[in-house]
Amino acid sequence: MFRLFPPLVSMLLLLLVVAASSGIANATPWCGSERPLAQLHPRVDASEHFTPRHHAHARARGQGEKPTTVVPIAWHVVYNKKAGNVSSATIQKQVRKLDDVYSKTLGIKFEIANITRTRSDWAQTALTLSYLKDSASRQMREALHTGGPGTINVYSLDFPDARGIELKGYSSFPEDISRSPKLDGISFDYKTMPGQIRNGTTSIGMTLVHEMGHAFGLQHTFVGGCDGEGDGVEDTPAQQFPTGYTSGCPVGQVDSCPNLPGKDDVSNIMNYVPQHCYRPYGFTKGQIARMKTLSSEYRGFTF
Ligand SMILES: [Zn+2]
Repeated sequence: MFRLFPPLVSMLLLLLVVAASSGIANATPWCGSERPLAQLHPRVDASEHFTPRHHAHARARGQGEKPTTVVPIAWHVVYNKKAGNVSSATIQKQVRKLDDVYSKTLGIKFEIANITRTRSDWAQTALTLSYLKDSASRQMREALHTGGPGTINVYSLDFPDARGIELKGYSSFPEDISRSPKLDGISFDYKTMPGQIRNGTTSIGMTLVHEMGHAFGLQHTFVGGCDGEGDGVEDTPAQQFPTGYTSGCPVGQVDSCPNLPGKDDVSNIMNYVPQHCYRPYGFTKGQIARMKTLSSEYRGFTF
């Protein structure tokens, strides 16, 4: 049915369904990266084998060490209030957080290729879920995007943090790159960066870690609910809805699809939970395989 609708409409419909089924009163989604698996890359087998090859992105980090794939980040600071003009030191802290998670899981490192700083109302208007349709998001990305599919463009913006508004970021999926190369990238709230304050809480940088999972081809663990192919990963248990804020960090205590194997993987990085609930390196083997497959195929990385 979703194929009959333009992407914007289908995405919003899906979000409404997710919000309604989650039982979280007045909640808006934490992340705008939602799409039925039927529109994306099919399921990936966790046993898929990767042969290390030489690659332009790969380089040795030291004598005798295995070459590491280095992923360039084009960072775009878009602000219209002083606080949103985040320092290079804060950006470095956020990138070190990405390095920590993705070096232990995918064996990659990130490198800041360049930082642009743009004072514009885009900081607060280029926020919608529908980056392919929304004119402000489209204008911003078409103006600022740089590099090819192997470069991750990151836009730090100023999302509203009023109570009840939970949207913190969204990413394009790698499957969209060939159709819309200039629109590829991640937009997220600068207040989620390490040391920044959001809704009275000091952030630890997990929003960009989560969004990078989408940029490498992952979907939310709860996509598809208890039916069908879910998130296209074989070892993430089916999950009816995001865990959200309901009761702290209920690891091992939620089974939203009781007729299917496994309890909800509450502390998985692709779930919605409070930032301290995400376990270190919280991806499954199947998610790591899917990220390797899709970022090889669509971004040209090698592992
Ligand atoms: Zn997400």
